[in-house]
Amino acid sequence: AVQIAVSVLLILALIGAFIYLLWTINRQNKLALLRKSFVNNMTHELKTPVATVMAAVESIQRYGARDDRDKMEQYLRISHRELEHLANMIEKVLQLDIDEVTGVNLRMTEVDLAKLLEEGVEIAELGAKKEVSIDFVGRLPKLSLIADAGHLKNVINNLFDNAIKYSHDSVKIQVGLKEENGTVVLSIADNGLGIDPIYFKDIFEVFFRVPSGNLHPVKGFGLGLAYVKQVVKQHGGTIKVDSILGKGTVFILTIPTQ
Ligand code: ADP
Repeated sequence: AVQIAVSVLLILALIGAFIYLLWTINRQNKLALLRKSFVNNMTHELKTPVATVMAAVESIQRYGARDDRDKMEQYLRISHRELEHLANMIEKVLQLDIDEVTGVNLRMTEVDLAKLLEEGVEIAELGAKKEVSIDFVGRLPKLSLIADAGHLKNVINNLFDNAIKYSHDSVKIQVGLKEENGTVVLSIADNGLGIDPIYFKDIFEVFFRVPSGNLHPVKGFGLGLAYVKQVVKQHGGTIKVDSILGKGTVFILTIPTQ
């Protein structure tokens, strides 16, 4: 009987190991696919602005645009816009330089959350190429946290950026901030395209982008939310998403005050 029990256990262990192996291979395959689409994306995204700036500079050098003030200004404006776009992309990729073990490097100081949000709103409204209105639900409470100001600012910027990117022309964003039982609760709701609930977990994975065909050819690398989640987690907090397709999305962050 002991022998049978040992054999059964052994067989179970083998089956377990086999299933684990299959699961790992499946996960690796998925990751490899995501990585491939990231590299494709990235290559395309980097090539376009570089080629545009190159063409603008060449035109200035070659075709005497130097003597044509209007043309010169146009080329400089285009170059500036494209370089800004490049700098933005580089910033995104650098943000993801997360150590697998230690995560991002946090420098904790006292952070005034209302101020951070107000700055975030300003940046989002200023940089938007659409009509955007961002409102606070009620009055912003005075809340301070011991946190990393720089990373939290990036978190807020990423969420505003997405709310603006994945939306139609007139964007309305509602921001809520409150404290509940020693926890700061921040919500950012948009009236954009929405996310199918089947993707709620995936969107926080590195490189993942909701497959959307040509519905909304919005540029991105699938890095932002993975970074956001990492930073929130390192502050001891959580992030949740809720959404209705075609109506809008809300991200809810909680961070303990202690
Ligand atoms: P990126 O925006 O570069 O693709 P993110 O990690 O920030 O990467 O987002 C992952 C995916 O989640 C996006 O590709 C998009 O499909 C979806 N998403 C994120 N935020 C929103 C939002 N506010 N509304 C609709 N979809 C969103």
